[in-house]
Amino acid sequence: MRSADGIETSDEMPIPERMKAWVLGDPDVLTLSEKPVPMPGRAEVLVRIDAVAICATDLEIIHYGSPALIQGGPPFNKDFTPGHEYMGTIAALGPGVDEYRIGERVTVEIHAGCGQCKRCRQGMYTACLNYGLNYGNVDKGHRANGFTTDGGFCEYAVNNINTLVSVPDDMSDEEATLVVTAGTSMYGLTELGGLVAGESVVVTGPGPIGLLAVAVAKALGAGPVILTGTRDARLEIGKKLGADYVINVRSEANTVDAIKRIIGEKGADYVIECAGTEDAVNEAIQMINRGGKICLAAFPHDPVTVDLPNMVRNNVYIYGIRGEGKSATHRAMGFMREKRFDASLIHTHTFALDDLPTALRYARERIEDAIKVVVKAQM
Ligand SMILES: [Zn+2]
Ligand SMILES: [Zn+2]
Repeated sequence: MRSADGIETSDEMPIPERMKAWVLGDPDVLTLSEKPVPMPGRAEVLVRIDAVAICATDLEIIHYGSPALIQGGPPFNKDFTPGHEYMGTIAALGPGVDEYRIGERVTVEIHAGCGQCKRCRQGMYTACLNYGLNYGNVDKGHRANGFTTDGGFCEYAVNNINTLVSVPDDMSDEEATLVVTAGTSMYGLTELGGLVAGESVVVTGPGPIGLLAVAVAKALGAGPVILTGTRDARLEIGKKLGADYVINVRSEANTVDAIKRIIGEKGADYVIECAGTEDAVNEAIQMINRGGKICLAAFPHDPVTVDLPNMVRNNVYIYGIRGEGKSATHRAMGFMREKRFDASLIHTHTFALDDLPTALRYARERIEDAIKVVVKAQM
């Protein structure tokens, strides 16, 4: 049924007026509170949140504030709900929406973008030029849930239809939350040109994005795919996700030499840098071949010194990526739907939404080798 303001709801999914929501107060202080359930506008749907994965960026936001930007400033004490890797069930349709139906399972990407700036028009909505301009009289329509607008550590969220990805019936809620992570890895490979079939790819750092970068590179036909890191348990998961070789950098005197022993003296065609340290960036420059491409998918906290002369002399390209642009989540879901890799290998723990502080502690301290920790509003 459509209400007078054009919003479609269904008796099958009754919507309460208020919902549980975690709210960020001072740094590191989250309180389980209540908020009104938001209502979708034009080109938006209301999603009943079923599961949310915790991302390292959530931990950053809750502690440091950045990169979240609420009303043009830090997100503290602004009734802000973090969380951005969520999936759920469509509970209401905004005016004019007929692309989805109530009851459909969807997973979401973070950025809707303003849709009107130069970068949005190029599909680079994660680098929207109107980023964070979504309040008061500067509202450009930009939305990045869990960054510039309310996120998913609650029971309902409004999402632009451009951010939705359909979830197949046989995929678990937990796996569906991982599409943003896989989409970020896919976006990195897209920005490198995407033509990686038969090319050598080195992934440095077996965090969630690194592990799924291995999976996506392999699914795109890359070979050999080499994963480097310091933790054997994670390198083992990398093997299951398709790494042809794994290198524990602690047991090698020189990581670059170890890579070149596998792929030859000339070096790798592509490096996806997911470690985010000064050493890792410079090693990437040493292990790449002439004309090769490096994707920087992790961000160091502080400025780093980079071997620029080596880069310039060898015609090395470096790409920064931000998030999951150019609809990469849809391509990642394409692989996940076809079971080309099992993203759920990186999901390690599930907690109830009410236990969010415990879940965050597991993710932060990597308790019991936690990789991706998920909270579920619907258990
Ligand atoms: Zn994330
Ligand atoms: Zn834009």
